[in-house]
Amino acid sequence: MAVAYELRCRDCGKRFKNDPLSSCDECFSPLEVVYDMDAAKRTFTRESIAGGPASMWRYQSLLPVPEDYAAPTPAGWTPLLEAPRLAKRIGAKNLFIKNDAVCLPTLSFKDRVVSVALANAKIFGFDTVGCSSTGNLANAVAAQAVRMGFKTYILVPADLEPAKILNTQVYGATLVRVEGNYDHVNRLSSQIAERFHWGFVNVNLRPYYAEGSKTVGYEIAEQLGWRLPDNVVVPMAGGSLITKIRKAFKELVELGLVAEKQVRFFGAQATGCSPISTAVKAGSDIIEPQRPNTIARSLAIGNPADGPYAARAIRDSGGWAEDVSDVEIVSAIQELAETEGVFTETAGGVTTAVTARLYAHGRISPDDVTVSCITGNGLKTTDALAGKYEAERTIRPRMADFEEFVAQHEVRGIVVDDMVSGELVGGEYVR
Ligand SMILES: *Cc1c(COP(=O)(O)O)cnc(C)c1O
Ligand SMILES: [Zn+2]
Repeated sequence: MAVAYELRCRDCGKRFKNDPLSSCDECFSPLEVVYDMDAAKRTFTRESIAGGPASMWRYQSLLPVPEDYAAPTPAGWTPLLEAPRLAKRIGAKNLFIKNDAVCLPTLSFKDRVVSVALANAKIFGFDTVGCSSTGNLANAVAAQAVRMGFKTYILVPADLEPAKILNTQVYGATLVRVEGNYDHVNRLSSQIAERFHWGFVNVNLRPYYAEGSKTVGYEIAEQLGWRLPDNVVVPMAGGSLITKIRKAFKELVELGLVAEKQVRFFGAQATGCSPISTAVKAGSDIIEPQRPNTIARSLAIGNPADGPYAARAIRDSGGWAEDVSDVEIVSAIQELAETEGVFTETAGGVTTAVTARLYAHGRISPDDVTVSCITGNGLKTTDALAGKYEAERTIRPRMADFEEFVAQHEVRGIVVDDMVSGELVGGEYVR
């Protein structure tokens, strides 16, 4: 290979030079970035990575950008947390949380994909960028476009959560609310990208965008001490993230940075939008589109672009997929916050509830090293918890009032002392 990276068709293998293209002109399958792995053997080493920045750009030599590219905004390198209290609650032992609820700059894993996509938008000379989004992508594009000097158009379904709308507009992006669901928004975006020659991160820049997701996988391996986990639980919207974590692990094995190991991939969806988990459960790669109806709006893609690849990756890895109800999602958000101090959005509620179910159904063995991917921040979907916590009455600034307040509180059983230490009372928290 004469170049460090280029595009290749995922199905027929046809090669393409680097261009804003997303699908093969022969077979219409999606394009993917491939690298000169011989060159990468020299540049992508444990030592060079350790000497790199504390961001996803420490893996720059396996990302589709020129060698001397200087990313204007650091993203990624989020904590991998041990989760012993959540583990105890759900019958696990070696459970970890990859916490992209604190990914910078906009508090979701989408900051990673946007970093790579916008780098390529610059390379291709676009002056205007955009995306079709279920929320987090909108926030990430709007924020990162500012420091790179792009004009920005963002298309979202009209019923998006208010926090995600505000978190897009505040950066000065032009927000277009489209009457319809994500799939309608996405179709319009493809037409706009073509008509106006704009760089749409998840349309004509999609192969580059998707590479950003690999860094979740690289980080998991590096943070486990250059080891692969036994299992990974990943939320699925378009189905890209789960396939790219798998690609990352394969690349690390190929380059000799980790020992080879069969990692099982588990996909998580909301029952109200579960085209991929439904296919996996049916033993099929054929995705039947659905009309989304769930509070997990960030995952509400009824016709997922990478759905067949996600379903295949799950099956080939020996994993499984599950979907959970909106009630389970909310309760899992609370559970993760109460046990591990991580406040996630509805997508993280999906992942947490699915992780719990996988243990309960014996699909994951308690002794396995399992990583649950938390991909977004709870402050963006506070509506999901509406009515869950009553507004406490006020007290006067007097000790007597406070003592009375505490007494009433204990009677109602809301205060559970052991929450602080992470122990359970009689195997159950009182809510
Ligand atoms: C977009 C998104 C995902 C899923 O990403 P895909 O690559 O489209 O499957 C998961 N979690 C959150 C919070 C997201 O915004
Ligand atoms: Zn092809």
